[in-house]
Amino acid sequence: MTHGLIETEEHTALRASVAALGKRYGREYFADVVAQGKHTDELWLEAAELGYLGVNLPEEYGGGGAGIQELSLVLEELGAAGCPLLMMVVSPAICGTVISRFGTDEQKRAWLPGLADGTRKMAFGITEPDAGSNSHRITTTARRDAATGDWLLTGRKVFISGVDIAEATLVVGRTEDARTGKLKPCLFIVPRDAAGFTRHQIDMELGAPEKQFELVLDDVRLPADALVGDEDAGLLQLFAGLNPERIMTAAFALGMARYCLEQALDYARTRQVWKEPIGAHQAIAHPLAQVHIEVECARLMMQKAARLYDAGDDIGAGEAANMAKYAAGEACVRAVDQSVHTLGGNGLTREYGLAQMITASRVARIAPVSREMILNYVSHQTLGLPKSY
Ligand SMILES: Cc1cc2nc3c(=O)[nH]c(=O)nc-3n(C[C@H](O)[C@H](O)[C@H](O)COP(=O)(O)OP(=O)(O)OC[C@H]3O[C@@H](n4cnc5c(N)ncnc54)[C@H](O)[C@@H]3O)c2cc1C
Repeated sequence: MTHGLIETEEHTALRASVAALGKRYGREYFADVVAQGKHTDELWLEAAELGYLGVNLPEEYGGGGAGIQELSLVLEELGAAGCPLLMMVVSPAICGTVISRFGTDEQKRAWLPGLADGTRKMAFGITEPDAGSNSHRITTTARRDAATGDWLLTGRKVFISGVDIAEATLVVGRTEDARTGKLKPCLFIVPRDAAGFTRHQIDMELGAPEKQFELVLDDVRLPADALVGDEDAGLLQLFAGLNPERIMTAAFALGMARYCLEQALDYARTRQVWKEPIGAHQAIAHPLAQVHIEVECARLMMQKAARLYDAGDDIGAGEAANMAKYAAGEACVRAVDQSVHTLGGNGLTREYGLAQMITASRVARIAPVSREMILNYVSHQTLGLPKSY
């Protein structure tokens, strides 16, 4: 854990109180919610009441007035306690940020207080079946009805998390006149019950309360004020939301990594089959030490990205957020793998609950931007190597 130079006393205190809340719920609560097909409503609302979920949102709209550094810390600590709240990546981090930075006063008044106090959630939809990692290829198209000024939105989205529990989805589309060429994205708030907006749950192999959906938008009619920000502002607005998403995915991955590592350490300290506990064998101890180092390094990069982002350096934050997401995703995959192995046969029992994390740990390697796309970005943007795609 890093204190002092890297994080302030307030951060340390926030970590401690979030960890205490997470511990009060614990893995058992989370596992019960998943087994019963429910949602983490109690924890979500309590965390919101304590000011944790809206910590990054402006004070005048009921938020804490802090930043993504504080929000990522909250998610990491809840995950480390076995209770990761995936919708934090989306609702306060992406949607809350985009609306705070680019929304009209009306949109801020309508959404931010509810996102901050946890009574409303907003999902985020960019991924499309035929575009995938190549967001420049998205075809969800907005056409203006000249008579009314309304927007008509048509397209398909896939793997969108939490659409069932979110009152609306922030959908990334493009305007009709920007249909070809470089992506000039525009963002629309689409209410869950809008006519022509249908969802179909994807059968994922993930033990999580949040589900993923395929969406069809068939001439969904939206009022003019459903557009968030400027239709010509382009990628800047989108990345205002995507950088926090990457930082928060890093936090999600680090929380999971720490939770699993803790289980493995408990086991390695106590399980004895020779004359010493298995943790005395370096074949068990060293990989766990490596995982700890990787988690700490990834956290430092996450803190750097969050600090840059909160200071308003969108470009610097972009590179650091990509690297943090990469490092945290890889640390998470290795942490889970090594933890499962440390428990031997128990690593695969339902009782210990680590085996299902093998699948869950892969999420941060794929989403919201895959490991390979980050390596492409760093090769090209940072190292100046030719672009391969
Ligand atoms: C649990 C979960 C939740 C999600 N939630 C959301 C959400 O809420 N909202 C949302 O919009 N999306 C969401 N996603 C979607 C996620 O962002 C995408 O899955 C991700 O961007 C990858 O896109 P894809 O699945 O189409 O893979 P593809 O783009 O088809 O990629 C497949 C493979 O090819 C590799 N690849 C592709 N292009 C290249 C290249 N140029 N060079 C090298 N390798 C390449 C990729 O790295 C990957 O390994 C979620 C996904 C998951 C799994």
